[in-house]
Amino acid sequence: MAKKVLIIDDSITQLSSLKIFFKRAGFDVETAQNGVEGFVKVYKTAPDLIISDVLMPHLGGFQLCRLLKSNPETKQIPIIMLTVLDKKLDKFWASQSGANRFIQKDSDFKNITRIAEDICSKFPVSQRYKDLLQTFEFDEEGIIPQINKILDDALMKSTITNEFRNLTDYTGDDAFIANKIFKILSTIIEYDAACIYFNSPDSSVKKRLIFNTQNCDLKENVYLEIWRQILPDCVEDFKTEVIAGNKSDNIIESADDFQSRKEFDFYYENNLIGKVCFYSTQNVEWNKLKFMPTAKSELDLYLRLKYLYVKTCYLSITDELTKLYTRRHLDSVIIQEFERAKRYGTIVSVAMADIDNFKIINDQYGHMAGDYVLREVSKIFMDTLRKTDFVYRYGGEEICILMPETCLQNIIMPLERIRKNIENKQFICNNQEIKVTISVGATTYSKDMRLPSDLIEKADAALYEAKKTGKNKVVIKNG
Ligand code: GH3
Ligand code: MG
Ligand code: MG
Repeated sequence: MAKKVLIIDDSITQLSSLKIFFKRAGFDVETAQNGVEGFVKVYKTAPDLIISDVLMPHLGGFQLCRLLKSNPETKQIPIIMLTVLDKKLDKFWASQSGANRFIQKDSDFKNITRIAEDICSKFPVSQRYKDLLQTFEFDEEGIIPQINKILDDALMKSTITNEFRNLTDYTGDDAFIANKIFKILSTIIEYDAACIYFNSPDSSVKKRLIFNTQNCDLKENVYLEIWRQILPDCVEDFKTEVIAGNKSDNIIESADDFQSRKEFDFYYENNLIGKVCFYSTQNVEWNKLKFMPTAKSELDLYLRLKYLYVKTCYLSITDELTKLYTRRHLDSVIIQEFERAKRYGTIVSVAMADIDNFKIINDQYGHMAGDYVLREVSKIFMDTLRKTDFVYRYGGEEICILMPETCLQNIIMPLERIRKNIENKQFICNNQEIKVTISVGATTYSKDMRLPSDLIEKADAALYEAKKTGKNKVVIKNG
């Protein structure tokens, strides 16, 4: 069956010659003399291909192309832009508007019809699609409002995309970022409450669920009910934050008061990277909301970028084997703590710990057993200390602890506890029990210290003394 081409051009002579050549090449030909007439004819004639001029009065070719390509009813029909223009920018706009090809008017007609045949076979339009197009009740009185609506939707979609793409802050506090996201979401989706969860590649980070309410307030128990629905595995250890919209008398007593909810889970390489959930007291058909697909795909992209950024930061300061912070991280943090102590008189203590006779453990039980001991010892350090203390892998089997706001008297107890926990732990590898002990040296900041490295050196000297005087002990040296 002959392919149908719709040629749109405001020049009658150009239109006539194109018509003759396309007929000769075996096409059925329809014509229109401006963009608006062309738009109507697409519906009426359901062509296999559209060839459009760029410079036309009222509705130009780029706008027509954008209009047809952003409309689900017409977007499958391929479009060739035919023009006298030959600037890079015009080609750019043609492709941005969704045109399949851009041909110069002075190309010979044989070439144009050959390209048209090629495009028709590359982008075939099904009969079903064309039939559907022709059943559309077209109210000719309403063409301009219809055109405006489609163009407005396309503009809004790209505006929403821009809003999300402007969210380039991955480093800020999660609540700050969530606030920005809710600001966009609340303008395009009517919800009463929403919550967002950013998963962290660092499993030690406390889970946070950040809520946003619009024209309603949630009773305390509702947060927990939602937590149970969304993240049932971590209700024991969570933090809830609320970014409230307008204050309201509409109090939600229970999660069951919501008539509908829509949850989106976002994954990257099989890892859950985040969740977003919307709630409404109305019955909402979430999937039918106009901008939901755009919001979903933009959230997906943003969450991936944020996750990768946070993961890169996490990897750069985390030791692979022990999951402790790296020495590089210590080097930057110790400078800050040292300067703070020097300037504001705050206290900071440092301890250096080293596994006793670790070489013998490696030699006797193998390197893998050594690695296992190192991992387990590190875990004891992290589990025993407070979240505000920082634990670093300083070297091979040396661990450094930075304890801000802690004086010497107060570090003895936790360090002794760690030493005893290690001494008493049963390290079992390949069915063999390995005895492990550590030695620790500790010190605190004093005014006569000039450099951050003085703190490390003093703690090292205390560690050396612990080793020299029998190992498996904690030695404290006054700063
Ligand atoms: P001391 O009681 O005096 O500390 O004796 P030591 O045997 O522990 O001596 P030293 O601190 O010099 O030995 C450290 C050993 O730790 C040497 C090195 O092969 C081993 N080591 C360093 N990094 C790793 C690691 O990542 N895995 C394993 N299995 N061994 C490591
Ligand atoms: Mg050692
Ligand atoms: Mg050592």
